[in-house]
Amino acid sequence: MNPFITDKVNQKSPFKKPSLYFCALMAVACLAVFPGLISEGKGDSAFLGLGIAFLFALPLIKELRAMRERNYAREIASYLNGLPAQTIDMETMEKKIPIAEPVKKLARCIDKGYLTNVSLDWEHKIVVLTAKNRLVEKEQYIEVRCNSCGASKLMIRGRIANCDYCGSPLVGTEKQDI
Ligand SMILES: [Zn+2]
Repeated sequence: MNPFITDKVNQKSPFKKPSLYFCALMAVACLAVFPGLISEGKGDSAFLGLGIAFLFALPLIKELRAMRERNYAREIASYLNGLPAQTIDMETMEKKIPIAEPVKKLARCIDKGYLTNVSLDWEHKIVVLTAKNRLVEKEQYIEVRCNSCGASKLMIRGRIANCDYCGSPLVGTEKQDI
């Protein structure tokens, strides 16, 4: 189970919704009469039909867009779950995820409720992973004290992270203090 994905991503496929088939059918029906009406010189009715076809197509377009966003969410989540550190800079993320503008998409997926346990720090240009149960079964959490400001942070042994207060890099070893 990926801790960054919400239940919203695993909703049932839109292709199982009968109402969408109805909308598709109506849209096609409205389009089908368009050439006939035009050839009969009933331009007004033809374009009215085109407008109605568009209205019926709207829910379909919305579903397809949501489906595409959920796919982005899955791709981003799988990348995040494989990261060894608790933060990643946005620039690296942009290079590593093979989709266009992954940081922008990540922000949108968070807004839409598709992704969780992750936040964006625009000021420091980093992505912060807050999933507590991530890797916890295999790894061990230890408390590390920051050499720069003295704040302590709970982190996974052997991993790297940034101090929550001053942003200094921290290494997950018990011998952080010199
Ligand atoms: Zn610090």
